[in-house]
Amino acid sequence: MNCDLTSLAVAGVRRLKPYDPGKPIEELERELGIRGSLKLASNENPLGASPRAVEAMRRELDKVSNYPDGNGFALKQTLAAYHGMPAAGVTLGNGSNEILELVARAFLRPGLEAAFSKHAFAVYPLVVQAVNATARIASANPPEHSMPYGHDLKALAALINDATRVVFVANPNNPTGTWIGSEPLRDFINDLPATTLVVVDEAYSEYVQNPDYPNVARWLEQFPNLIVTRTFSKIYGLAGVRVGYGLSHPDVAELLNRLRQPFNVSSLAQYAALAALEDSDHVTRSREMNTHGLAQFSRAFESRALSYIPSVANFICVNVGQAALPIYEALLREGVIVRPVASYALPEYLRITIGREDQNRRVLAALDKVLGL
Ligand SMILES: *Cc1c(COP(=O)(O)O)cnc(C)c1O
Repeated sequence: MNCDLTSLAVAGVRRLKPYDPGKPIEELERELGIRGSLKLASNENPLGASPRAVEAMRRELDKVSNYPDGNGFALKQTLAAYHGMPAAGVTLGNGSNEILELVARAFLRPGLEAAFSKHAFAVYPLVVQAVNATARIASANPPEHSMPYGHDLKALAALINDATRVVFVANPNNPTGTWIGSEPLRDFINDLPATTLVVVDEAYSEYVQNPDYPNVARWLEQFPNLIVTRTFSKIYGLAGVRVGYGLSHPDVAELLNRLRQPFNVSSLAQYAALAALEDSDHVTRSREMNTHGLAQFSRAFESRALSYIPSVANFICVNVGQAALPIYEALLREGVIVRPVASYALPEYLRITIGREDQNRRVLAALDKVLGL
């Protein structure tokens, strides 16, 4: 007998729209029959991984028949020392995405709520819906604000009630590149009820240069409801091996640890992450190149009278003054992949990952051609 298999799924999953990972370079080149195209769409490090991380993986390749260390002992110890906290508060994840998902599975259920900002990272609504909890979305800063479309912590705080178990704060946020300073963030966390956990997602923290940008991991002792997430996917250039982590109170880490798969972080990923942490030169080089690239794009947009969202991360959103999807498609035909962000309620914006200087020039030239500038 036939049966609608979709109707068998739990309600949260039936309503779920999968994360859109963006167009792979191989797919574009196959479709257009071209080569040498450029992808600045997924906030990957244009310098690649640290050569030391790559070498570490090579060294370990002949041991891949063994299971990884399921407890990630060495990596947890190193991260704990790096952040000056006990290893019992470190949770390793298959990317920091997994930490976000584990938090939702551990603390949310139907009838409970999670709050986050409009234009915030797309994974928050996904993990909340998957467990059939309720997502409450705060209005963001208005366009004329000095951090346009950034998180409005007052609006976010106004959504918190007895049912709010998790708040997600991206600092900096993707796709806006906006950020929150130390004082407002600390006040926000301080005012939360003890029953509301706050996840501060710091996927891009290593790029931020502003002295007001907080090192939230230092607040863990003061706030037992705080969870910080970090990743090796962005400045460390290890997006393909999938490793990220959460920092929290040991009790929270212990709960997340119960839920995760036994071997959720591969052995190669653990070795790569350990080696990447030792290569601070690579991080510095990547950060400096990014700072130059941000300035390059900002200047270019200003000289073209294109408005953009000031960013501190490794991407920048530019307003193309019209529906951005056709512009994105025209750029594809120029062999340039960027990211349309209409799904983030920013339909006239394109998000461009900061590349090397020559790559940035190439995107700008393609944009000029497509926009007739
Ligand atoms: C990229 C990104 C992540 C991390 O992704 P992983 O590769 O799973 O570590 C987390 N949060 C934000 C806001 C991101 O943009």
